[in-house]
Amino acid sequence: MTTAQRVSTPLTEPATEGLDPEQRRNLQQHRLRRLVQRLLETGGVQAARLRDCGVERGVDVSLEELHELPFVTKQDFWEYYPFGLRAAPEDDIVCVHGTSGTRGRPTLAPYTAHDLDVWSRVMARALGGAGATRRSTVHSAYSYGLFTGGLGVHHGATRLGATALPAAGSATDRQARLLLDLRPDVLCCTPSYALYLGESLRYTGITPDQLPPRVGLFGAEPWTEEMRLEIEQLLGLEALNIYGLTEIIGPGVACESLDSAGMLNIAEDHFYPEVVGPDGVPLPEGEAGELVFTTLTKTGLPLLRYRTGDIASISGPVPDSPRTLRRMTRVLGRRDDMLVIRGVNVFPTEIETVLLTDPRVAPHYVVVEDRRDPSHPELRVGVEQHSPAEDTETLERDLAVALRERLGITCVVRVLEPNRLPRAEDGEKPEKGSPRPIRWDHGAAPLPGLE
Ligand code: ADP
Repeated sequence: MTTAQRVSTPLTEPATEGLDPEQRRNLQQHRLRRLVQRLLETGGVQAARLRDCGVERGVDVSLEELHELPFVTKQDFWEYYPFGLRAAPEDDIVCVHGTSGTRGRPTLAPYTAHDLDVWSRVMARALGGAGATRRSTVHSAYSYGLFTGGLGVHHGATRLGATALPAAGSATDRQARLLLDLRPDVLCCTPSYALYLGESLRYTGITPDQLPPRVGLFGAEPWTEEMRLEIEQLLGLEALNIYGLTEIIGPGVACESLDSAGMLNIAEDHFYPEVVGPDGVPLPEGEAGELVFTTLTKTGLPLLRYRTGDIASISGPVPDSPRTLRRMTRVLGRRDDMLVIRGVNVFPTEIETVLLTDPRVAPHYVVVEDRRDPSHPELRVGVEQHSPAEDTETLERDLAVALRERLGITCVVRVLEPNRLPRAEDGEKPEKGSPRPIRWDHGAAPLPGLE
């Protein structure tokens, strides 16, 4: 089915998803003031910054002036690790999720029971928008753990009253068995895994028409329109995009529905969106910039104006649609150099830290995001040795182990011939940060020896 043929899908929560935009704005304003009041009462870094801006009470702020309030950034998560941004008493925290160990520390998010309720609701809506009902079986091949993908889908499916099928990271033959025997109508996983699964199934002779899922919710990493078409053909379903991040709640911050015309409905009654330019100044609707979210209802880790680093633009709802939430485009890129490989966030500076602590490695390296096979994106790291006589195989293996420990992802390491890598003029590592990652989509390797 193509985008043009999409039909309207019943709303899971008509009172919120279909609310008159004017009334929603009043609700958002009310929730914003309640959030600011709560932050001020809790104390801590966000309260101190609000007071620095002259905000003493929740009623001092309004949506119109939100852009004058300070941002929260990833840096704050690192600085106040592990729970410096928590706003609820420890007794009220019921679980923790987190992202991979950037800078050796994961970004952790504590949730209250109320937050889990919010998360379940937005995920139930996301599944409902994809056509899932109480009769559905939702096959989730996202991993379960600190990563929000697995449990986020699970909470949403059970909240909807559907049957959650936590296939998680099972081997592909087991995933296939479950798909064929339990006949789930909804499939959730990363888009790269969807491709991998589709290709593996085709290889074993299973054709798309034998596969029961009618729709898939794929996210946690960037993907393209071309990948959508490929996934749809391989798996014989309609592929929808789901977006989220741990700091805000996990998947479900925004999600395409069958009737959202290729854009993602933002759960803006819970996560108030803004788009800002590189200078932090808000951009008008339709212009691409960095997404900033304010968690209007969260209590464990409420965030005022969190800069996501993700680039997208925001538009209004589909005209005349019963769904009145604003929509965002797919993520068009990142503000920083962060790579998302198979759902794991990787900062090139992390790679550098590992490489440069190994005395055998010269201070020249290259990071390559190998997306030639979109079903299996890979990180390749090319290094040079200080003394070329070393055993290159051992070095490659040792570095791969160290990188895996630090990043939580397997990389391909290649020791390149001396002087293959571009150098700063004085032959030292450039002062202004790490070299930018190179993307390898097709054709020959960007540098010889990286294959
Ligand atoms: P998640 O559980 O969603 O992977 P993380 O906090 O580990 O959460 O990673 C969040 C980041 O992953 C986002 O800031 C964004 O860069 C990326 N991401 C998540 N979903 C998507 C998506 N649908 N498209 C593109 N990027 C995404």
